[in-house]
Amino acid sequence: MCSKLVTDLPESTERIAAWTEQLCLIPGLSGYEDPVREYISDQFPDPRIQRHVDAPGNLILTLPGTDPAAPKVMIFAHLDQMGLIVRRIDEDGYLRVERVGGVPERVLPGLNMIVLNDRGQALPCVVGTKAHHATPQEEKGKVLGVDKLYFDLGVDSAEAVAKLGIQIGAPITYRPQFGRLQGQRITGTALDDRAGCAALMELLHTLLKSPAPATLHAVFSVQEEFNLRGAMVAAQRLKPDAAISIDIMVASDTPDLHDRGELKLGGGPALGLYSFHGRGTLNGTLPHPALLNHLSATGRAIDMPLQRSAHSGCLTDSSYVQLTNEGVPSMDVGFPARYTHMPTEVCDLSDLSAIARLLAAALQDMPAGFSFERRRYGCIC
Ligand SMILES: [Zn+2]
Repeated sequence: MCSKLVTDLPESTERIAAWTEQLCLIPGLSGYEDPVREYISDQFPDPRIQRHVDAPGNLILTLPGTDPAAPKVMIFAHLDQMGLIVRRIDEDGYLRVERVGGVPERVLPGLNMIVLNDRGQALPCVVGTKAHHATPQEEKGKVLGVDKLYFDLGVDSAEAVAKLGIQIGAPITYRPQFGRLQGQRITGTALDDRAGCAALMELLHTLLKSPAPATLHAVFSVQEEFNLRGAMVAAQRLKPDAAISIDIMVASDTPDLHDRGELKLGGGPALGLYSFHGRGTLNGTLPHPALLNHLSATGRAIDMPLQRSAHSGCLTDSSYVQLTNEGVPSMDVGFPARYTHMPTEVCDLSDLSAIARLLAAALQDMPAGFSFERRRYGCIC
């Protein structure tokens, strides 16, 4: 998909758009985030930033605050995207797959995908499905499980697949794409969470120019789509005073989701009041009241509209970060996104730049002695 940057947007918005575009175009299945991480690390050569990459591959960029006694806050966005992995190679050259993360099976047939070979090259493939002209009426409305699908590289034998450097375990993602819609709307294959990574990069960029008393640990985390626990490892190392996740939140401004909530694209950053995932992962995040109060008050102070999300069916890695060490005050800050986990996710650049501004203002107003004591929400705002 071609992308054409419009020029009448603020510089920060254009920067976020350019970073998001570049990040969406780099494939990075869970466990294969290395090129995404390297791109981000290369964008921040500033010697004030301390950098660390841990064993799972989290990138930690620490910008020390101006006051060593002020809080240390971990703000994180995940590098990885969901996809598939090769589980079997048929004699006639078709690939059979397993899902890695929440890939919607109903969107797969007929899609363009890429598979990475053992040299790291991205090879195109398409998801095979029974030819439409040969599909009986009763099968036309059915969703095929991933075990019924076959991936077509354009070769006719297992030997030819092996020659391409593709073996069992090879990672597969949507064919990377990014595009601009009207205004500040963008679409891409992995806005979840490359757009969040771009917002976090913009936060770091902002604090380099306008330092805050608080220390920022910007963590670009791994394996969120796979097991939600990559960011835990960074939190165990950093022992932050607080932690905030930047990730998608499901927008409810499409015709089919009005009843789910009130989250609109372009309506501003969303505060996560509740997330819960009951299917296999009995976890979720309830915001720490000190953080919730502080971000709410910051939004009012800078005259920024904020939205609220209380949503079951999804969760982020903050669910696990909050349980590390002796517990970390945590919450989710989201950007509304449509068509989540589809190859054509849509979000709004204004929400991303607003997240960077909100969190920068929140850290700039977090001096030494800032209290993370639990108080009833609404008491101190
Ligand atoms: Zn995500």
